[in-house]
Amino acid sequence: MKPHVARKRFGQNFLVSQGVVAKIVEAIRPQADDRVVEIGPGLGALTEPLLARLPHLHVVEIDRDLIARLRARFPPERLAIHEGDALQFDFASLGPGLRVVGNLPYNISTPLLFHLAARADGVRDMHFMLQREVVERMVAAPGGAEYGRLSVMLQYRFEMERLFLVPPGAFNPAPKVESAVVRMMPRPREALAANDEALLEEVVKSAFAQRRKMLRNTLRDRMHEEDWTALGIDPMRRAEELAVGDYVRIANRLASR
Ligand code: SAM
Repeated sequence: MKPHVARKRFGQNFLVSQGVVAKIVEAIRPQADDRVVEIGPGLGALTEPLLARLPHLHVVEIDRDLIARLRARFPPERLAIHEGDALQFDFASLGPGLRVVGNLPYNISTPLLFHLAARADGVRDMHFMLQREVVERMVAAPGGAEYGRLSVMLQYRFEMERLFLVPPGAFNPAPKVESAVVRMMPRPREALAANDEALLEEVVKSAFAQRRKMLRNTLRDRMHEEDWTALGIDPMRRAEELAVGDYVRIANRLASR
């Protein structure tokens, strides 16, 4: 078979560092009876060591050439290949207790994270390689420039932990940026529940659309003086200063009207 030429449009940077592969698999700790899906198996850098520990694995891959290679390499009873776009894939169809892993295509990482967050109920955990900068936004605490819509909406659904950094040289071709591996564990629903999640999303979006402005202004169409007083939140503060729980309380007050 001819060597595969990496396709930029599919965000292809293949892992070549065996040390990094081993660290990721160790972080995931796959057990024989786990239900696991890998997003973007590519040339199989993670697929192969995962299949060394698992009797069966699901993968979602968009590139037909890579799919042909995977088919030639792994028998269908061990590797279930779902051909298509992970952004359209129904992860819930694979059943409950799902573990999601992948060295994600960086060009679609943010929409993919939102897609997965919306379907987090059946998920046990997720381990992803992403750009370091995205991981830092995911885990950011209130107060800094990295804290934004991605931080609030993902922290609402998951406990997240940055596990380790990965240098560009671990990939071929090497990406321009540093990468990091993150672990995401769904939070119990009752811990921090928005009564209307679509409304929570709208509030967070409006607040961060003009993150330097005061909340009194960015949320003026929804929140009135008495609402801020009732919640004990100072409306002169800016979006980046509120904790995830504050956004949930704002959304719940609006939902109760
Ligand atoms: N897992 C391999 C590795 O670690 O070497 C490949 C990682 S590469 C960064 C991203 C992979 O995701 C590629 O195989 C690419 O074809 C695939 N991919 C890109 N966009 C995708 C999409 N929308 N849905 C599913 N897979 C996609």
